[in-house]
Amino acid sequence: DMSLPVQTVRTTCPYCGVGCGVSATVKPGTIPIIAGDTAHAANKGRLCVKGAALGETLVLDGRLLYPQVRENGSMRRAGWDEALERVAGGFASIIAEHGPDAVALYVSGQLLTEDYYVANKFMKGYVGSANIDTNSRLCMSSSVAGHKRAFGEDLVPGAYEDFELADMIVLVGSNTAWCHPTLFQRILKAKEARPSLQVVAIDPRRTATCELADLHLPVKPGTDVWLFNGLLSYLARHGVKDSAFVAAHTEGLDMALATADADCGDPAQVARICRVDPAKLLAFYEGFAATRKVVSAYSQGVNQSSSGTDKVNAIINCHLLTGRIGHPGMGPFSLTGQPNAMGGREVGGLANMLAAHMDLDNPLQRDALRAFWEAPRIADKPGLKAVDLFRAVEEGSVKAVWIIATNPLVSLPDADQVRRALEKCELVVVSDIVGATDTTTHADVLLPALGWGEKDGTVTNSERCISRQRAFLPAPGEARADWWALCEVARRMGFSGFDYEDAHAIFDEHARLSGWRNGEGGAGRRVFDISGMSGMRRQDYDALEPIQWPVLRAADGTLQATARLFADGRFAHASGKARFVATAPRLPVHALDDEFPLALNTGRMRDQWHTMTRTGKSPRLANHAPEPLIDLHPNDALLCGVREGELARVTSRWGAMVARVTHGGGIARGSVFVPIHWSGQTASDARVGALVNPAVDPVSGEPEFKHTPVRIEPF
Ligand code: SF4
Repeated sequence: DMSLPVQTVRTTCPYCGVGCGVSATVKPGTIPIIAGDTAHAANKGRLCVKGAALGETLVLDGRLLYPQVRENGSMRRAGWDEALERVAGGFASIIAEHGPDAVALYVSGQLLTEDYYVANKFMKGYVGSANIDTNSRLCMSSSVAGHKRAFGEDLVPGAYEDFELADMIVLVGSNTAWCHPTLFQRILKAKEARPSLQVVAIDPRRTATCELADLHLPVKPGTDVWLFNGLLSYLARHGVKDSAFVAAHTEGLDMALATADADCGDPAQVARICRVDPAKLLAFYEGFAATRKVVSAYSQGVNQSSSGTDKVNAIINCHLLTGRIGHPGMGPFSLTGQPNAMGGREVGGLANMLAAHMDLDNPLQRDALRAFWEAPRIADKPGLKAVDLFRAVEEGSVKAVWIIATNPLVSLPDADQVRRALEKCELVVVSDIVGATDTTTHADVLLPALGWGEKDGTVTNSERCISRQRAFLPAPGEARADWWALCEVARRMGFSGFDYEDAHAIFDEHARLSGWRNGEGGAGRRVFDISGMSGMRRQDYDALEPIQWPVLRAADGTLQATARLFADGRFAHASGKARFVATAPRLPVHALDDEFPLALNTGRMRDQWHTMTRTGKSPRLANHAPEPLIDLHPNDALLCGVREGELARVTSRWGAMVARVTHGGGIARGSVFVPIHWSGQTASDARVGALVNPAVDPVSGEPEFKHTPVRIEPF
């Protein structure tokens, strides 16, 4: 209706974990005009190219607009009722015959908190299985596990503002310039204003981020624990220890330090193992020792590793020793990959967690949750983590899987195994906004979901800031919210407790749960508490300003946000203390050899997001890197007999793909970089996931995306 007024809606970017505020100005009949929201503290009006191009991605071509069901081998359009009956009936009969662990949900850090909350309640409280995992397993689960070991709960202590208040920023395994661009802009500005701010980049690749760095340590892939154990040992030896803090607020230092000293007490040897210049290593150790206000930010180079959890703890150990946590300008800082990986963690979206940061292995908390939900049962053992989940599907112990807002046939390691699994699976349900992805082609039931700009709810970014995503476009075709589809299936399976009117009602329940029996009866106090936000009226939820949790309500009725945790030195372990974790260094699971002599590293390109189902629609984003590439060192190219600009084949023990050779200039000898974005839907099947080894971290279950042995040959 062209007579409708022009309207500006404040919402949140659906891509990376910075969680920028976006304003969308909608004039009927035209593409929404996208701008940065100057009132959002995360970005203060800035947007990166991906966020700025959001308007171009809202076109409807390729959208899944109607439910579909498989009949005699092919898909046909169906009504919602028929599709939902098929899902509910299929789940119910499989559960009746094989038990609750024979079904599973595989969800996504792209979901809103409200969708995520309902999915988790459905599985853990009503189906009675913890077989719900999320693609955050591929992204943040090592940080989650590291936080729980160190702090007693999955908590990010600091705020983005700390990057501006720090005197040293250490970026570990993070191409911040490309993957968290507006945060990088803040660092850039801070350094311009105050050139004494030291930036250290620790990354095997010389990325765009390194251009800002005063010091770049191009570590050998997988050796981060040696580097940080070496730092811990160095700091202790040089008396850089906050003895009062360590004595009052921590435990476990002796073991951690003995472990660090054993392998990493000699910086010269650490430099050899990490393959970095010993003088540069010492410069880093000396700089860290001399600077109190240090932020150590880490991302996928740390998480996506078979020793990812130990890497996280090795970093945190150095902050605990020096008491550099809980105060402005300092602390360990996990940079979240996805827009709502944090929100998913809050509602227990991982197979080894419960809602509201309650613990699966804590019987009092399990009881509290079951009572709150008035649920017939509660999962009492961890479910299958992503890689194991799809193995169980192939082996046949999981017979039905509902995949929501993610594309595991492209994004999981050993992705051809996922294809085999879905081909064998009795019932594959896929909820998506896109009709044809590598994963949707294996669906028995397809459910059309709402996309960004159409759906309504909340997300939480890396600094614990809860922001609203608001709808400003009508639902296309018959697309519906994911929470609605989940509730409809739950109702059809005879479950009560899924009668939500809207996203606001779900958020209200989530907020109430976070305060439910918190700290009562020996169940332990949970820091994640947003009970101050319960009881909000619908219009207050709609008008909600971005706010960092925990959120309690003050006596005068105002909401109290929390910028920083642990200022008082109190942690979430029962002892109230933080824990040092002894981290014995170990190399990646699969070593290089004569047959596969190069280490494959995977990651993002600047202008694309995940499997390109949205960013791929924007021509200007495609310009930056129009096709998949293999980035390697010219000398390695020579040895492999491949030339820049020509096609080459990359092969691992798990799969192969073809892409064009490039010399980006940032790769050390012995390593190869291939981006994660291209799928089997593009011209050639360039799913790098098919090559990635399925080794996982033993604690977090996070796959080793940064180290797969490969060889390269002319195509
Ligand atoms: Fe979106 Fe991240 Fe870019 Fe911000 S930095 S606009 S959240 S992709």
